[in-house]
Amino acid sequence: MMKVPLLDLKGQYATIRDEALRVTSEIYDSQMFILGPHVETLEQEIARYTQSRYAVGVSSGTDALLVSLMAAGIEPGHRVLTTPYTFFATAGVIARVGAIPVFVDIEPDTFNMDMAALAKTIDELPKAARAQCKAVIPVHLYGQCADMDPLLELAGQHNLVVIEDAAQAIGSEYKDRRAGAMGDFGCFSFFPSKNLGAFGDGGMVTVQSKERYERVQILRVHGSHPKYYHSFIGGNFRLDALQAAIVSIKLKHLDAWTEKRRQNAGTYRKLFEAAGLTEQVRLPADVMSRHIYNQFVISVPERRDDLVAFLREQEVGVEIYYPVPLHLQKCFAYLGYQEGDFPVSEHAAAHTLALPIYPELSQDQLAYVVESIAAFYKQE
Ligand SMILES: *Cc1c(COP(=O)(O)O)cnc(C)c1O
Repeated sequence: MMKVPLLDLKGQYATIRDEALRVTSEIYDSQMFILGPHVETLEQEIARYTQSRYAVGVSSGTDALLVSLMAAGIEPGHRVLTTPYTFFATAGVIARVGAIPVFVDIEPDTFNMDMAALAKTIDELPKAARAQCKAVIPVHLYGQCADMDPLLELAGQHNLVVIEDAAQAIGSEYKDRRAGAMGDFGCFSFFPSKNLGAFGDGGMVTVQSKERYERVQILRVHGSHPKYYHSFIGGNFRLDALQAAIVSIKLKHLDAWTEKRRQNAGTYRKLFEAAGLTEQVRLPADVMSRHIYNQFVISVPERRDDLVAFLREQEVGVEIYYPVPLHLQKCFAYLGYQEGDFPVSEHAAAHTLALPIYPELSQDQLAYVVESIAAFYKQE
């Protein structure tokens, strides 16, 4: 047996260890931990990398979404559209500002928001509810952009603020544009398992308008502007200097790491083809310009949970993202959704699993993953 973890960050750390220890030690010596020059440098770097006008370092991807909703003026009673097939935070933040999540189903091949369903959902909202519909959060799930052109057109027609959840999609492209630069706000996460991860929590908001940029900066420090004068209520959404410095170091390697992920995806495709598994296993669509493969998620028509258990026995790290779509989560029961409301999301939750795709995987490890899946289907 060969061990193939879902993610192993140690190899990556070895390549940046000296630089990371040096900058960490400098920050310890300075005893300046919150915001400051390292955060400002990273903000400029991320704005450039994502082709955005401005960027504001924040405490996490979740807080990036939360502060964007706050800066967009989303208030109790407002409605915000998003998909039920995403990490919990996307919808959690909508509820936390007192707004109502309105779910829209996904497409079966990309797992991203279905734009025809978006149009239909908006059209079918009662008039009063439609008037309260103020924003839409497309999620660029697993590292592939949602179909942004039709979304931006609908958002324009209905006056919706567009907040991209790009937590899994740094450097992902749609046509010639980058994730986070197409909407009004772009939200990134530096959670360690993302393609660009810190040594703890961190995040970034990209913003296209100067006014909103300034608003996010003020909201990040409790709405304080000037210091100790509060015209509105914000929170503590600050980014640490340590995390910013680490992310800056890693950013220099990001394109090379992304290229390796994309190569691994290509290798998987060849291996699945060669093993004759394309009937049993549906591979992820790669239809937008640049998929960055934060996850490589396959779909199997039956016995997904048995396959997951089998692969874990074979020491292949796999995970289910996400087993319960958000409209069926207990905490959202008050929204009144039922099983069957979002069949594509429900199907994905029941039939998908993520395989290891991180850059440092060896060819042997990739081959072993596919061999293990072949072995599962052979034993039947
Ligand atoms: C990780 C993630 C978040 C939240 O980011 P944190 O930094 O963990 O708060 C939000 N949305 C999506 C789609 C994510 O994958």
